[in-house]
Amino acid sequence: MNDLNAKLENINARITLACEKVGRHPGEVCVLAVSKLQPAPKIRQLYAAGQIAFGENYIQEALQKQAQLDDLDIEWHFIGPIQSNKTGDIARHFQWVQSVDREKILHRLSIQRMDGQPDLNVCLQVNIDREEQKSGALEEEIPALARIASTLPGLKLRGLMAIPRMTNENSDILRSFQNMQKLFSQLRREGLPLDTLSMGMSADFEQAIHCGSTMIRVGTDLFGRRA
Ligand SMILES: *Cc1c(COP(=O)(O)O)cnc(C)c1O
Repeated sequence: MNDLNAKLENINARITLACEKVGRHPGEVCVLAVSKLQPAPKIRQLYAAGQIAFGENYIQEALQKQAQLDDLDIEWHFIGPIQSNKTGDIARHFQWVQSVDREKILHRLSIQRMDGQPDLNVCLQVNIDREEQKSGALEEEIPALARIASTLPGLKLRGLMAIPRMTNENSDILRSFQNMQKLFSQLRREGLPLDTLSMGMSADFEQAIHCGSTMIRVGTDLFGRRA
């Protein structure tokens, strides 16, 4: 078994263990392989090991690698900050976008998604710890954005995404994840058909799973350190 296969197995074992602890089924949690700054051949190798969904942060880099991997049936997720002049590339070349944080972007993506393409899956990014420089909408802005996203043609609102504040304090991370979980269930109670709570990265995905994450985004622990 090669290195990437072993790393994928290791992630799956960690997911299973984390799920067992809180009585969840491992099938409820999917893995997004975060491939930013990783070369196309490594993505190809991980795909061969069974990984289908890959996440990219930088549009130019993503388009280049997509062209090199055109023969594979990869599900591409855009997870980086969105400049409004890049929405056309996102609308045309991705199946998912997880980092939408303002109304203008929703409208542009809706208009730019091509006829004949399936709906673009959308997660709204929440700036859950209200950090100054972080992308993401504030919690109180999310319900209105979600209602707009759920009505626009070409888009399918799937859920919420967050990157909690960098900290070594377990209790702080846990509180951020719990706040996300609360917001997610609140929107669902309001009748929005959300099925995706995207939270948890290499260092903290066990805690995210504890708080109901359905999609963890793993870079370092799958690919190794980024170049
Ligand atoms: C880079 C990145 C990740 C992966 O982080 P790792 O710590 O390498 O697992 C996950 N989500 C987003 C939005 C990222 O930008």
